[in-house]
Amino acid sequence: MNDTPADSLPSFKRRVVLFPEAVFVVNTNAIITRLDRQTFTMFGWANEQEIIGKSFYDLIVEEDIANVKSAFQKILVDKNIYGLQCNAKRKDGSYLRISANGSVFTDSQGVPQEIIIVVHDITPHLSELEQVREAERQLSEAQQIAHFGSWEWDIVSNKFRWTDEMYRLFSLSPQAEVNNDSLMAYVLEEDREKVRNFLSQSIADGSSVLDYRFVDPQSSAIRWFHSRSKTLYDGNHKPLRMVGTVHDVTHEKELDQVKTQFLSLASHQMRGPLTAINWNAEILLQQQTTNLTDTQKKYVQELYDASKQIVRTTNDLLTVSELELDRMPFKPEKLSLTKIAKRVLEDYDRIIVEKKIIFKETYSGDLPDIETDMYLLKTIFNQLISNAVSYTPPEGTVTMTISVDPQRTNTFLIAIADSGYGIPKDQQEKVFSKMFRANNAKVKVMRGTGLGLYIVKLILKLNGGEIWFTSEENKGSTFYIALPFVPKPQKNTVKIGA
Ligand code: ADP
Repeated sequence: MNDTPADSLPSFKRRVVLFPEAVFVVNTNAIITRLDRQTFTMFGWANEQEIIGKSFYDLIVEEDIANVKSAFQKILVDKNIYGLQCNAKRKDGSYLRISANGSVFTDSQGVPQEIIIVVHDITPHLSELEQVREAERQLSEAQQIAHFGSWEWDIVSNKFRWTDEMYRLFSLSPQAEVNNDSLMAYVLEEDREKVRNFLSQSIADGSSVLDYRFVDPQSSAIRWFHSRSKTLYDGNHKPLRMVGTVHDVTHEKELDQVKTQFLSLASHQMRGPLTAINWNAEILLQQQTTNLTDTQKKYVQELYDASKQIVRTTNDLLTVSELELDRMPFKPEKLSLTKIAKRVLEDYDRIIVEKKIIFKETYSGDLPDIETDMYLLKTIFNQLISNAVSYTPPEGTVTMTISVDPQRTNTFLIAIADSGYGIPKDQQEKVFSKMFRANNAKVKVMRGTGLGLYIVKLILKLNGGEIWFTSEENKGSTFYIALPFVPKPQKNTVKIGA
């Protein structure tokens, strides 16, 4: 370049200062020879005299001087330098971060004469950038500690944005290409359908939640992920983006499994002695010849009722844990649905009479046998009859109907209708959750664990059946069960959290 600095200097003065930018002219020894006014504002000087004749290096903080010196040598060779960043000092000693661009002016022989240095004060931009970087770093650190990743899917362009922890959770390199299809390959085969439904449900309803298993591509270990998602739409309800989180809950699931195993063992151990107490109380009550006084008989009756209740609860706990651990025995045999229903009903004769409940039975003729496990079938009837009788006030009505389902092929339809307390509308969606009890039920019937319907739901999941209900508070409820003629146990589908 053969231009002279004189050509350029007037333009410095006309410069409209939108961004903090200052211009220095220095000689080849980095001594400042001229400057524009903006330099005063930027560095806090009062006038030119304070600075003309000083070295440019005097403006730079100690630690950065060596860097700036070597950059200066480079300008003399390369003629230009862009974006040199370093910390500089103001007159009052405070620091500012600058970015400098430099150009050399040479004489007609190409010998460097002067250097023009344009300095930008990037302190405010840097602190914003640093704040963003700091926030990102903290987020990434927190996600790593919590095993918690977050993602964003631009549905329109089908592009994914993952946080660092997402790549760690999925054991993928941060460079790996990710999309729904590539990820699906790592989801445990049995859970793929659930993951597909999770995505389509999120698009349809705006959000979804799912626990699913993932096979680590490096170790082949199975891990549990808890995912939540939210979909964002345009004005025409066209889905634009989906955002979501993934939480590694493998440890929690393992602990859950241990707890369930413990519960299974404890209830197994308790069942024997409790059943013995129950039997002996029953024997005492049935023996007409015992010399028990009326008061003693009353005590034994109380003992019998309490032990029966506790045997039931223990059985429920054991059933829940065996079903959740997926080790419930399933011994199919040909059974008559109506016979089993009647047999279970016998256990409720006393309470039905005591509460003066009108119990009606309607069974279609010529029903085929069902081929299933007797214990599981009895459990279904037990829970539903028990609820209908418990949650119906004295002198109410309960009707049990068993027929062939008119809607489904080769399927029974069991309906148990009562004229009882009903289930409040706002609590109906939780009815099949573990340990749920509606507010009105808790007041009216003290005893209850909230395990019964959860058990029935799990058994039906295992057997390929369905359960649903209609209910109106203070009018009554009807529970329906559709059960295939030959229910098929589906192993491994009933897992904790599934
Ligand atoms: P539990 O009867 O031990 O409380 P369940 O799981 O069998 O547990 O039932 C869960 C809850 O559902 C009950 O506490 C009750 O609130 C409600 N419920 C079930 N069956 C009926 C029914 N037939 N009438 C009214 N409420 C019912």
